[in-house]
Amino acid sequence: MDSQPKLHILFNRQEIEATVSRLAAEISQDYHDKYPLLIGILKGSFMFMADLIRHLDFPLEVDFIGLSSYGGGRQTLGKIKVVKGLQSPVKGREVLVIEDIIDTGLTTAFTLDYLRKKKPASLKLCALTDKPARRQVPVTIDYLGLTVPNKFLVGYGLDLNQKFRNLPDICFIEDED
Ligand code: 5GP
Ligand code: MG
Repeated sequence: MDSQPKLHILFNRQEIEATVSRLAAEISQDYHDKYPLLIGILKGSFMFMADLIRHLDFPLEVDFIGLSSYGGGRQTLGKIKVVKGLQSPVKGREVLVIEDIIDTGLTTAFTLDYLRKKKPASLKLCALTDKPARRQVPVTIDYLGLTVPNKFLVGYGLDLNQKFRNLPDICFIEDED
């Protein structure tokens, strides 16, 4: 259990940077005159958010929401609650949610639902990665970076039990068997 997992690079830092630039160009086209509120889902999205907004040269605001899904480890267990609320009012704002990875879709569906109730002017989703093989609820990704295989990823903000967030590349963990 505590043995070091074997990591392999899935997307290196150059590939990530190219993807982030492409997403930023798409977002710039749609939001440059809209003064959007970008909402990152903690903790995984912090690195993507930081890199993404450096490419956006128009007025915007940033906020973060913290969620907990019961149980640690590798699974979203379906019961989600807000543990760190937003500081910015959402009503009437052009809101863009920033996620690291869409897996079952449960976290994102919950977040979009939660935000929709606050009556934003618009609500869209940008995800750096998408793992469609595991989807349980449908989620529309308006700005998608990379589609990934059904493997557990770490690095570039993504963790395994809070470790590996600091890796500059997106890696996958070799199956133990
Ligand atoms: P979902 O609710 O879509 O199943 O999962 C969303 C959240 O689960 C992500 O924001 C992320 O925090 C976590 N997650 C899903 N897949 C992975 C993965 O492959 N690696 C890591 N580190 N976290 C993941
Ligand atoms: Mg996350």
